[in-house]
Parts: sequence; structure tokens; C-alpha cells
Amino acid sequence: MKPLTQKTTRTVILGAGFGGLAAALHLARHADRHPQHEIVLIDRRNYHLLQGKLPEAAAGHVAPEEVMIPLAGLLQGRGIAFRQAQVLEVDFIGRAVHTDRGLITYDHLVIAVGSTTAFYNILGLKEHALTLKSIGDTVAIRATVERQFAVAAHELEPGPRRALLTFVIGGGGWSGVEIAAELAERAATLAAAYGLSPAEPRVVIVEAAPTLLPGSDPWLIDTVTRTLKAARVEVRCGLPVTEAQARRLLLADGSSVEGGLIIWTGGVRAREVGDANALLRGQANRIVVDPTLAVPSHPEVYVVGDAAWVIDPHTGAPTMPSAQLARQQGEHVARNILAALENRSREAYRPHLKGALISLGGRSGAAIVARLRVGGRAARWFKRLNDYRYLFFIGAVGWRFGLRARPNIRRTLGPTPASVVRR
Ligand SMILES: Cc1cc2nc3c(=O)[nH]c(=O)nc-3n(C[C@H](O)[C@H](O)[C@H](O)COP(=O)(O)OP(=O)(O)OC[C@H]3O[C@@H](n4cnc5c(N)ncnc54)[C@H](O)[C@@H]3O)c2cc1C
Repeated sequence: MKPLTQKTTRTVILGAGFGGLAAALHLARHADRHPQHEIVLIDRRNYHLLQGKLPEAAAGHVAPEEVMIPLAGLLQGRGIAFRQAQVLEVDFIGRAVHTDRGLITYDHLVIAVGSTTAFYNILGLKEHALTLKSIGDTVAIRATVERQFAVAAHELEPGPRRALLTFVIGGGGWSGVEIAAELAERAATLAAAYGLSPAEPRVVIVEAAPTLLPGSDPWLIDTVTRTLKAARVEVRCGLPVTEAQARRLLLADGSSVEGGLIIWTGGVRAREVGDANALLRGQANRIVVDPTLAVPSHPEVYVVGDAAWVIDPHTGAPTMPSAQLARQQGEHVARNILAALENRSREAYRPHLKGALISLGGRSGAAIVARLRVGGRAARWFKRLNDYRYLFFIGAVGWRFGLRARPNIRRTLGPTPASVVRR
């Protein structure tokens, strides 16, 4: 890897997602206190992905460019050295990160590599379902939905036509309910475009737990369930998926759902960085950390976000994977690294869940902000405001308005441009 500057200490951050970026930006904001401290951010991608907007991109309601913030522009002039590279291995004894573009040593390390989709060894699921974790996934979902409509428009047999126009989502968590609402809205638009009855397309969401959004606030569960049903989404809870076949999900009660598209959003598992056995793991492969978010066996290594197994001291339960908490944890470890540089003691992390914001298509949502509970359009606006607040926090508002000024990038309800499908 290209030599870095000759500064005396170096923090290397693995992953420029919500947690890693927050850590890097916080360290950079206090760089004047430590001119000899170097901040290096490594990611396999050259953009910061706004994962919360993937459902909108998958339905074709926003263009892929609107969910990918180029890191080169974002980090320019901020005192953060960005390296686009795939992390292959971490040598925790030698304090070095091995990447596909060379080796880099560290004094402090932040692991913020996020998560990947968990398939729980369900037979056929990996092979027959699409996932919703990347730009590639959104392009595949969008193209498949459009193809199903184009084919169904010429299919005269009711059975195959019904299957073509059925979109099945496995997993009723946050991303599952958001993609269900987006697809229901998109299906109505495409049905009109292809001259089909609005009653023909079906969106079915299947959840193993007794309700959608398991473990969430009861008001939120109720509001989301009612909103989805009003949008003609079929909600089936208490039904674990037992097997996936081509265009079919088999359920625990012996029934099955046939669909032209199956999307699996049923769980996540922390990503590996190198030797899976090097560090102690909690559930879902998440790395066990102490209350300061450091790895007990290597106190100079911190883990944040979806990759970390963090216990909430208020509840004694593990924290949920969320962008909100990943950001908080990123900032917290940055503060602890500054404390270590200044020979101060490190502080324990306490999660602060500031609310819940769920978008349900372009015109509805469900939000709990402070003690306020809001549904419908107002909730959707809360979510939009929150998206802007985040862009402001990372210094990307200019990027957003730059996109708006370009005529080809706006809410895109037409067929997928060929350039997008080919990517
Ligand atoms: C569809 C969807 C909707 C969601 N909606 C919400 C929401 O509304 N609210 C909310 O709070 N949360 C939401 N989440 C969850 C949230 O996005 C995650 O919890 C959050 O992104 C976790 O942040 P992170 O920093 O741990 O990981 P990420 O943001 O995933 O970042 C990890 C980074 O590490 C990089 N990386 C991984 N492996 C390597 C490697 N080997 N080498 C180099 N780089 C690597 C990746 O490229 C990525 O940039 C949603 C998630 C999804 C999928």
C-alpha cells in the first residue's frame, strides 16, 4: 500500500459505513489536538452506502446514485486518509491489517465492517432469494419486478400470471416492512403502466415471530401492520420459512407461497475480517466487546455497529443492529481513542435510542420521536428530515443538492434505464 505520512501514531478504521465514518469524522474534528496522529479509513467500496434508503432504490423510487455518497469527495480536505481496499486479515499480535492492496500497521484499530445477510441454513434460501444489502441487490430487485410485469402483461393463464405478479418478502423486520410498502406502491404504478388491474399484483410478507417488527414498541407494530394492510400487503406472521424453492417459499404450517420474486430480509450476521476464531464471538457472529467497546484481549482494538456484540447496561440485552447505534458507537470509540492519546481513562458506552423512524412508501410511515408517536405523512416527513440531518452531520448536504440540480437523478417512476440494469 502507498506509504502514509510519518506521523507517530495511527488509527486504522475498517469500514466506512455508519460506525466507521462517524469514528473517522469525530477523530478528524479533534485533529488539532493531535497533529502527530494519523487517521486511515479503509473500505472495499469507494462510497458510503445509505442502507436505510435501499428499499426506495430497490422499488425504483430513487436512483442508485442517491444512496451512494462518493468517499473521495466526502473526505476531501478533512485530514482522513482513505484507502479503497478489501481487508483480508488482521494480525492482532503484530498490529497490522492485511488488505488486497498491501499491509498497514496500526496503534489503534476500529473494526466497523457491518453485517451480511443471515440465511440460517434454510434449505434453498441463498440460491432462490434476493437480498437487500447492496446497490447490486437493489438493481436486481428493480429489474426483476419490472420484468415480471412485462411478462405477466402477455400471460393469459390466470395461475402463472398470478405467480408472476406475486412478490414475497421473508422477514418482517425493519427492512422487510419498508421494502413491502415500497413494492406495494411500485406495483400499483406498474400495473397502471401495463394496463393490468390494480388488484392483480400481490405483495406478501412472511414473519416467523407472532408479529411484524418483533420486540418493537406495540404502537409501532400496530401502526406498521395496519398501514401495510391498507396498502394491500398480505401480512403472515408466526410462520417460519422452512425451505425455498425456485419461485416458492415453504412455511412451517405446511403451506407455501408462490411468487415471481422472493426477497429475504430475515436476519443479519456480522462480517468476518480474517480468522473467525481470533476473537470471541457472541450471537450472529458479532465480536464480544467490553463496556468501553474494546476487545477484552486487545484493548487497542474497538468494534462498533453491526459487527459488535454490545450489551446494553440498562436492559442487560444485546443492542439491535441499527445505523443510529452504529453512529453513536463510532463516536464513542473515537472519544476513547482520544482519551488513550491523552492518557485519560476510557469511558463505558451507554446506548441512547432516540426513537424509531420507519418509512412505508413515499407517503406514509411510523415514527416515535421523543415521546411523540406519529403515523402517516407526518412520519414520512420526519424520516426525510432525519435523512437530511444525517447528511448535515457527515457534511454531505452539498452532495445531495448537487444531485438534485442534475436533471437525470430524481424520483424515477419510469422503467429502469438500460444503463442501470447493465451495471
Ligand atoms: C434495507 C435496510 C434498511 C435499514 N434501515 C435502517 C433504518 O431505517 N434505521 C436504522 O437505524 N438502521 C437501518 N438499517 C440498519 C443499518 O443500516 C445498519 O445497522 C448499519 O449500516 C450498521 O452500520 P455499520 O457501520 O456497522 O456497518 P455498515 O454501514 O454496513 O458499514 C460497513 C462497511 O464496511 C465495509 N466492509 C465490510 N467488509 C469489508 C472488508 N473486508 N474490507 C473493506 N471494507 C469492508 C463495507 O463496504 C461497508 O462500507 C437498515 C439496513 C438495511 C439493510
